[in-house]
Amino acid sequence: MKLFDLYNNSHVATIVSHDVINNMINHSYMLVSSDTYLVREYAKYVASAFLCKSNDAPCGNCNVCKRIEHGNYSDVIVYPKDNKNIMTEDINSIVLDEAVLPFESDKKVYILYDFDKATVQAQNKLLKTLEEPNKSTIFILTASNINNVLPTIRSRSKKIEVGVLDDGVIKDYLISDGVDAFTAELVSSHSFGNLTYALSHTKNISGKEIIVLAKDIFNNLKDSSMVLEYSNKCLKYKDNLEDLVSQMMICVQDIARICATNGESSEYNVGLYNLKSLEAISSLCEEAIKKNNANCNPNSIIDGLLLGILEARYKC
Ligand SMILES: [Zn+2]
Repeated sequence: MKLFDLYNNSHVATIVSHDVINNMINHSYMLVSSDTYLVREYAKYVASAFLCKSNDAPCGNCNVCKRIEHGNYSDVIVYPKDNKNIMTEDINSIVLDEAVLPFESDKKVYILYDFDKATVQAQNKLLKTLEEPNKSTIFILTASNINNVLPTIRSRSKKIEVGVLDDGVIKDYLISDGVDAFTAELVSSHSFGNLTYALSHTKNISGKEIIVLAKDIFNNLKDSSMVLEYSNKCLKYKDNLEDLVSQMMICVQDIARICATNGESSEYNVGLYNLKSLEAISSLCEEAIKKNNANCNPNSIIDGLLLGILEARYKC
């Protein structure tokens, strides 16, 4: 599976192609998603939809589409140029550049990644351009938190929510990306529908280990004599504690889904839990994340959580 096919089947493509076909292209589009990898790829496909001359644009195969994909089409200009956030100087360059006619096509497309992280000054500067854009100019902004974008920019941009992906779609993509089937299954079901998250957990070993450990805790932590052993396993990931606890919350949701339907599972020891204990454990996980964000001692957070899980199981 290619991301291009995924895009073509998305509502993002439906909205954009509608605008192209009806000659209703907006001067600014804002693609909203916390999936930074996916939204960046989609931004390029949207640019291709505006510039590709094929009948079924974006075709993904023509010279224009391929060059946009590889970042070497002169009328698609991407910011930020490095890994920093967009600054006023970047917008100054855009304002100067925007006055120059496109080189190869009839439009110039500026892709501004992570625009919600751009400084307020930079956002204000762009606003002036959005108020009186050059006829040939189109902006594609991406943002994960739209609340950090000035309302005046938001109101001038056509907002498109990218949405989360199905686990199965992520799994297929990971397999087509060369990931083995077991890892693809494990990671995709624990990725919150977020491809960036899935890719990062596939590529780093600790990401996978964290998912395995979270499941291990729910299946094999039998009594308080095992808390020290599991506490030591968890401490290995004390710098990724939020990730570990988030994975535990996914386990809670999975088990709750199975309990609610009286289903069986080869993955989880469902008999150890009921909906009441799972609810209590879910609250404990939320509490643990709060403590972690407040820089509490990781050792005591982990011990408290593990003992809390046992207690919830016995009490409920
Ligand atoms: Zn094309």
